[in-house]
Amino acid sequence: MATIFSKIAAGEIPSYRVGESDRYYAFLDINPLAKGHTLVIPKQEVDYLYDLDDETLSGMIIFAKQIAQKIKAFSGCNKVATVVLGLEVPHAHIHLIPINSEKDVDFSREKLVLTPEEFEEIASKLRG
Ligand code: AMP
Repeated sequence: MATIFSKIAAGEIPSYRVGESDRYYAFLDINPLAKGHTLVIPKQEVDYLYDLDDETLSGMIIFAKQIAQKIKAFSGCNKVATVVLGLEVPHAHIHLIPINSEKDVDFSREKLVLTPEEFEEIASKLRG
């Protein structure tokens, strides 16, 4: 059965798309730690990031780099953190999170609640 992230990449489940290539897809995390918190996934369905073949994994980092540059310009943050958890969704993904300090990557913190309009506005700025 397809994972929820495969369905998102296929457009079968809606998402706030940030970027896409033939092999990768980037979209806003629905429970963001900060405005611009983005997930990057390979379209190939693999659970654990480090089970990806070398070429797919390295291509994913290069794709994520382009998205991270846009997030940094959008948010004016100090750095864009690259975090891999994968505890919830069994489809490899990288979190890209705008940060200014260590506490900004604390996943136990309360997440932001944004309206659909706010999500779409952020996504469209990151796509631009
Ligand atoms: P983890 O697998 O531990 O890295 O966490 C999965 C992440 O995916 C969480 O931050 C969720 O908020 C996010 N997430 C789960 N479902 C969706 C969805 N349909 N759209 C956007 N983000 C999602």
